[in-house]
Amino acid sequence: MGNLKKAINRFMSLFFYCSGFYYILKFINRKKIRVLMYHGVDERQTDFILDDPTLVISTKNFEEQIKYLSKSYNIISTHDLVAHIKNKISFPLNSVVITFDDGLKNNFINAFPILQKYNVKATIFLTTDYIDTLKINWSNKFYYFINKIGLNEFVEEFEREFPAYPNLIEKIGHKNLTENMNFILKYKIDENIREKFIQRLYDKFGIKINKEEIKHLYLSWKEIKKMADAGISFGSHTSTHPVLSLLDYEKAEKEIIDSKKNIEVKLDKKIHLFAYPYGNKDSFNSNIKKILAGYNFLCAVSTIEGFNNLNSDLYELKRISIVDEPFYYFKLRIEGLEGFIEKIQHKAYRYFKRRRY
Ligand SMILES: [Zn+2]
Repeated sequence: MGNLKKAINRFMSLFFYCSGFYYILKFINRKKIRVLMYHGVDERQTDFILDDPTLVISTKNFEEQIKYLSKSYNIISTHDLVAHIKNKISFPLNSVVITFDDGLKNNFINAFPILQKYNVKATIFLTTDYIDTLKINWSNKFYYFINKIGLNEFVEEFEREFPAYPNLIEKIGHKNLTENMNFILKYKIDENIREKFIQRLYDKFGIKINKEEIKHLYLSWKEIKKMADAGISFGSHTSTHPVLSLLDYEKAEKEIIDSKKNIEVKLDKKIHLFAYPYGNKDSFNSNIKKILAGYNFLCAVSTIEGFNNLNSDLYELKRISIVDEPFYYFKLRIEGLEGFIEKIQHKAYRYFKRRRY
């Protein structure tokens, strides 16, 4: 988002918040259900060098949010959400579901004690290949490289390796460069070529990832078991976090069932919940949904922003992504105000554009 757009957005949010419009919005949305999506809960200051720092919120903000939700909303489990939609039974008013993606260790260290303190239900979606192994994925290696060596160096090497992508800094600009480079690596470069390229970079710059840092990235089975015993539910987020829609059918199926079976064996419990890696509209398709239904998954959450209602597609549930923002902004986000403001901005833009002619 551009800086000016962001500033206008913030100003309008504050206006809506102070004017009390927020309460009207909450009333309008009372029968819908919000599924919140968290990733990491940690202080920014700790060197979060193996992952996207925009996916982490501070422990203090997390506690403020959970405390507020437990008082002002009805926090229900993902299984409850499924039962309501399946049986077409209205949700309790102001319902919220809390979910975490990727299975990061800070979920156990920082989020779990807060969830327990407020007696709150939550679901964690695990990427199972990274549990109790020292494996990490290409995206972790990408963030590690740009934190240790630099983004400019990464782009330089990338342009040299892939001449089809010249002058990236000029074209993209510095502001969203990290995000865009990650996007290009994810969607435009074949996985084997990407793996080789990153390995070559690591060799060239003599990078060795400290094992202690990797150990602190993902949850262990022991931690998962402890949380499961305390009532936290778990779902699959595949084995290695690929873009499922880019894989052939058998590979996608294997990613899903291996991860499901792995959790079932370790927790001695059937697993019925799924979260699509990346989760946008392009990251899954009807074949993937069919695989999930065939293996008795009851639902799948996406990262498509929005509310759900009794008519929602259980294999395409929408979520609201929680980022590290001021508290008033969180309250507005979970009532969909951001989308509302964007609609107004879009309409205003079209109106003024028309007036010029
Ligand atoms: Zn994920």
